[in-house]
Amino acid sequence: MHPFNRVEISRQALIHNFRLCQQLAGNSGIMAMVKADAYGHGMLDCAHLFAEAGVAAFGVADATEGAALREAGIKAPVFVLAGVVPQDLGLILDRGLTPVVPDAALLPVLAEQAKARGLVAGLFIKLDAGMGRQGVLPDGLADLVRVIQDCPYLRCDGMMAHFPMSDVRDSSNSAQVLAAFRGAADVLTRLLRSPCRFHLANSGGLLYVAGACFDMVRLGISLYGYYPDGEAGRAGAAPPLLRPAMRFSTRIIQVRCVPAGTGLGYNHLFVTSRPSRIAVLPVGYADGYLRVLSNRAEVLIHGRRVPVVGRISMNLTLVDVTDLDAAQAGDEVVLLGCQGKEEISADEIAAWMETISYEALCLFGKLNRRVLVD
Ligand SMILES: *Cc1c(COP(=O)(O)O)cnc(C)c1O
Repeated sequence: MHPFNRVEISRQALIHNFRLCQQLAGNSGIMAMVKADAYGHGMLDCAHLFAEAGVAAFGVADATEGAALREAGIKAPVFVLAGVVPQDLGLILDRGLTPVVPDAALLPVLAEQAKARGLVAGLFIKLDAGMGRQGVLPDGLADLVRVIQDCPYLRCDGMMAHFPMSDVRDSSNSAQVLAAFRGAADVLTRLLRSPCRFHLANSGGLLYVAGACFDMVRLGISLYGYYPDGEAGRAGAAPPLLRPAMRFSTRIIQVRCVPAGTGLGYNHLFVTSRPSRIAVLPVGYADGYLRVLSNRAEVLIHGRRVPVVGRISMNLTLVDVTDLDAAQAGDEVVLLGCQGKEEISADEIAAWMETISYEALCLFGKLNRRVLVD
């Protein structure tokens, strides 16, 4: 981790996004998805900010993340949404986390562990309403509910499902998933005598699927300032817009002058066509600035775009500053975010990486030193 490399997370941007989403969600609560270290933004920092802003719950992938939230003093409900395994159930009960159960296989162990603690374990059912990844199919719902109801140590508190295509506006798939979820919610409400709660929407569900908010919306990417459908989503959105919260920067460590015809770095992937000034940056694929960005990405120096030239290596990247006379060692270089009037967004980097903003954010945020700013 080079001392020049730094990921800044803007508190103001996170709070702005939270409030904007809160307005869109109306009476539905917000479950802040803080899995994967809050998409690289720092799980604990984000959790404290969102808790203060009035979050209804948190969502994590596994029990360890939930336990870390409790350790940090987070009191709100925490949903463990992916990959609950029998080995986790003790921790889930001890820390007061909410398991999301995809089938009946876990229930005997959950009941046994709850009984041993003198508790009734509250759980949510994961329904496969069309995601095709995890969860009980609508056909199997009634049987699963019966197993839960027959056990005095288990209580069903609600049900969730997940959209596979909510990043597509007006998708007929989302309409089908919503209808399947509504149907299953009616079934569950009839079977349970106790009140239960429902959540379905992710960011795309909130932004692009009418009527999908139910009791809570589970938001990840929108809280971190990006649209699930990338630049198109931002271009199509009515202001106020979401604000990217992450900025990734480094500094030039050296500027070299080389003649025309010089091959740069591994495999000489770039050969200079003119006498060139090449700046060396102490960042590489080990810092999440992936090799696929070689000869493809741009960075900001003095508020201007300059191209990455040659192969990105493990800890070094070269950029062509021939047209930027003033560039010198020590100058700030922005890889992601704003500098002056220019901006490089995670959507743009994702396009260079042939992926989505989520992946770029996770990589940069998890692999570099992070500071909260604003
Ligand atoms: C990650 C996740 C979300 C959040 O998705 P975004 O597109 O980032 O809003 C919602 N629900 C589940 C189950 C998830 O795993």
